[in-house]
Amino acid sequence: MTTLLRGALLSPHFTVDEALKSTPNLSGIPANVRPAVQLAAQRMEELRALLGRKPVNPTSWYRDFENNQRVGGKADSSHLSGYALDFTVKGMRPREIMHMIAANVTTLGVDQAIEYGGHVHISFDPRRRGQLLLATGGGTFVPWKPTEAIQPMSKEPGSPEPGSSAWWLALAAAIVTAILTFLTKQS
Ligand SMILES: [Zn+2]
Repeated sequence: MTTLLRGALLSPHFTVDEALKSTPNLSGIPANVRPAVQLAAQRMEELRALLGRKPVNPTSWYRDFENNQRVGGKADSSHLSGYALDFTVKGMRPREIMHMIAANVTTLGVDQAIEYGGHVHISFDPRRRGQLLLATGGGTFVPWKPTEAIQPMSKEPGSPEPGSSAWWLALAAAIVTAILTFLTKQS
């Protein structure tokens, strides 16, 4: 296999450029990691379908040695092999994404998935350990456990919580406006 150059697709919804976000100096995916990166892209297509085909945004994927050091990755990081990536999904919290991963660990061939505050790390290393972790900050991790009820992503940003004082004020204002509109029409 040869180097896969920037501008090309890895799979229908993932690009070479997305896989090289952490390696700005590279013009393409090196031949030795290309199979691993393409395998990860295929598995991410399956996960994307499970997540309702929402836009998936890889934030860090393949890292060569120098760039892994630069971003503070672990010396044995699976980003070095191309099997791992960090990503976000539009309109979904890391917790919700982890619930879907946890329910499909075997079919997706997950080696490791880690829930962070703002993203999910996932590795498709062929070891397939199925390890699920929660990052608790400062490089520490605990076993990931599901929550009973998943909070859906918040409604319109900025709209008040039903029952809150801001919500009651907005309701009162709407009623006053309606009455005034009605009275204006009568006169
Ligand atoms: Zn990662």
